[in-house]
Amino acid sequence: MSRTVCWRVGSQDGNAVALIEPDARPQPPPASSQPRTWSTVKITAVRTIPLLGATPETGWSRGTDPTMNLHTLVLVDTDAGVTGVGSSFTSTPLVDAALEILRPVLIGENALEPDRLCETMLQTGYWHGRGGAISFAVSGIDVALWDVLGKAVTQPVSSLLGGRYRERIPAYASLLFADPPILRDRLAATLENGFRTIKLGWNGFGRRDRRYDELLIKTARDTVGPEIDLLVDAGASEEFWPHGYKWASETARMLATYDVTWLEEPLPPDDIEGFRRLTAQADVLIATGEAFNRRQEFLPFIQARAVDIVQPDITKCGGLSEVRRIAWSAHDHGVLVVTHGWNTAVGVAADLHLAAALPVARWVEFQTPSPYINDLLTAPFELDADGCLAIPTGPGLGIELDLDAVARLSH
Ligand SMILES: [Mg+2]
Repeated sequence: MSRTVCWRVGSQDGNAVALIEPDARPQPPPASSQPRTWSTVKITAVRTIPLLGATPETGWSRGTDPTMNLHTLVLVDTDAGVTGVGSSFTSTPLVDAALEILRPVLIGENALEPDRLCETMLQTGYWHGRGGAISFAVSGIDVALWDVLGKAVTQPVSSLLGGRYRERIPAYASLLFADPPILRDRLAATLENGFRTIKLGWNGFGRRDRRYDELLIKTARDTVGPEIDLLVDAGASEEFWPHGYKWASETARMLATYDVTWLEEPLPPDDIEGFRRLTAQADVLIATGEAFNRRQEFLPFIQARAVDIVQPDITKCGGLSEVRRIAWSAHDHGVLVVTHGWNTAVGVAADLHLAAALPVARWVEFQTPSPYINDLLTAPFELDADGCLAIPTGPGLGIELDLDAVARLSH
């Protein structure tokens, strides 16, 4: 028996309803009065810009050359005239090589589907160095796609990630240890710049002896006073790290006596059993994760509660699409996420948007000083009176590159 499909329409008094034939159903208003809609925005090109010439001190054992190319800006162009920007934590030749593999799965695709495209790129990269430089390249592309999406629908990325739980977040200054006289000056300058939380990393710490380590921590605490949160990064992902669980345990105990908040990477990245034991017994929070490049690497640490804080890097791990998954896994297991942010202003913007879109977030990392963070934008990030950064509110990442600065910092 055939049936006539009818449409139920409410009357003006809100009570009676009428059944009308499909042909008589209400027509949509003229296109000019509808909200602007975007069905597809096709990717037309993916471009790279190296950052070099002002690379900050790394503290790495093999030294730092300002011309080192550690970061690459990634631009995704579309047929709608919208261009998104991302940042990859690797050299431009490596991103360009990855793009030889990735361009065929990107060009002509709908740029408004970053999550699908990210997963497609990661699976495409399976035979080409999964979790390696190709994933670092995917990270920059993914962030650029989220920027395109936000600009296309005129919403900040944090809203598109699910919603903004906060409008600002404390930034912690990330700087390197130095001998006490220099360390005191660095800390004083950092306080002067308004930071209320400061992380000090490697560069001698854990590389000489225990007395030197404690001298550095005592110097830091005496300089900043009792009210400032101090964080310590041992940097054990550096090659040939000599220490194991007992060093980590004794160091955590020493740091606790100076009221240090967290100890980062006190063990080589893959020592999950060492991290599990340390996290269970330490009085300071234990953090790690900057050396993991795939969500599958984070899961065993999260599920075993082998850390208090995981530190995925949005510019390495597959971008916002991948780190959002890591972050929600961590949240569901009572592990805090603080993204690794030794990167660029574009990376900071991505970190801020993710932090805004998580139910619990306490800090974002802010490397200082760094021209790639301080000089790259027309409106640089600035701390408020409480040492917090505002989550950008503009469409996409809510940032604009300073093209003169980009030109100056790209060769
Ligand atoms: Mg670190």
